[in-house]
Amino acid sequence: ILKILNLNKRFGSLEVLRDVTLSVAEGEVVSVIGPSGSGKSTLLRCINFLEKSQSGEIYIGGNAIERKEKVVNKMRQNVGMVFQHFNLFPHKTVLQNVIEGPIQVKGVPKKDAVTQAEEILRNVGLSDKTHVYPAMLSGGQKQRVAIARTLAMEPGIILFDEPTSALDPELVGEVLNVIRDLAREGMTMLIVTHEMGFAREVSDRIVFMDEGRIVEEGPPEEIFTTPKNNRTRIFLGKFL
Ligand code: ATP
Ligand code: MG
Repeated sequence: ILKILNLNKRFGSLEVLRDVTLSVAEGEVVSVIGPSGSGKSTLLRCINFLEKSQSGEIYIGGNAIERKEKVVNKMRQNVGMVFQHFNLFPHKTVLQNVIEGPIQVKGVPKKDAVTQAEEILRNVGLSDKTHVYPAMLSGGQKQRVAIARTLAMEPGIILFDEPTSALDPELVGEVLNVIRDLAREGMTMLIVTHEMGFAREVSDRIVFMDEGRIVEEGPPEEIFTTPKNNRTRIFLGKFL
């Protein structure tokens, strides 16, 4: 469903992505790990054109994505993104946050959007927070609202950028549980994370990035137990 070919990205003279080639198949869960500054966030931002790359091709659902407003807007409906900081609308309730996209962008009738949102909020365990404002929620609850909002758009793939790294340790689990459920339901996901145990458990494939390159990729068992690359070994050594 997602294919990236030879993506290159520079900020001035700093090469942040170097010839990144990566595919994610339908129903696959791929986790991207790597040191700080290795280009993981930039990769996700390039995928949905929040950042402009210098060269390379991006295909979503078999279609090449061109940098045209119409094409990009259509693509963004199909590519959900969940950030480290939840970016909820503070002046809207949980329900209003979740129905905003379907109503404004997809033209779903309000009644249908509400029904759908209520079901999604039930699935992420937030039925009792439907009419509450984000300021009244814990970080874990806010992140679950952010995930619910993304799900309401019924994307073909969701990109996660360190969804739990802004959370207090005791709140990490509830968010990972929601992502774990999505994996079980067959949602296609590309997840940047520092949660190695979680990545190992939930992913079909692990991609290790360093200095803007994909250094190594493979099944979790392989990457976490017998990494081939020395830099992968050194990086993972820090988590032991
Ligand atoms: P982390 O694990 O800390 O989130 P990351 O792998 O996500 O790191 P990126 O945020 O993609 O790393 O950053 C890659 C490099 O690009 C870093 O050296 C960073 O300083 C640089 N960079 C990122 N955004 C910009 C920007 N808007 N302008 C200039 N440099 C940037
Ligand atoms: Mg990052």
